[in-house]
Amino acid sequence: MAARDRFELALHCKACNISGTADVSEEDHPWMRHPGFGVDSIPDDFRVTKASNYRQTTEIICVRCGTLVHPQAA
Ligand SMILES: [Zn+2]
Repeated sequence: MAARDRFELALHCKACNISGTADVSEEDHPWMRHPGFGVDSIPDDFRVTKASNYRQTTEIICVRCGTLVHPQAA
């Protein structure tokens, strides 16, 4: 049975001064070729514009102004 690591990322748009929390998950099996990162839930103020199997290359923007946000570990 696949075990997924679930955690939260803090989102913040400096331009609009809004914050939110995204629920994300990835595989925790070290033998997998990639972690299969995915955003499971994201506030309405933010949107995933580029999905990726890696957290580092997943792109999330602020819906209000289109600014790329840099998620931080919550
Ligand atoms: Zn914004």
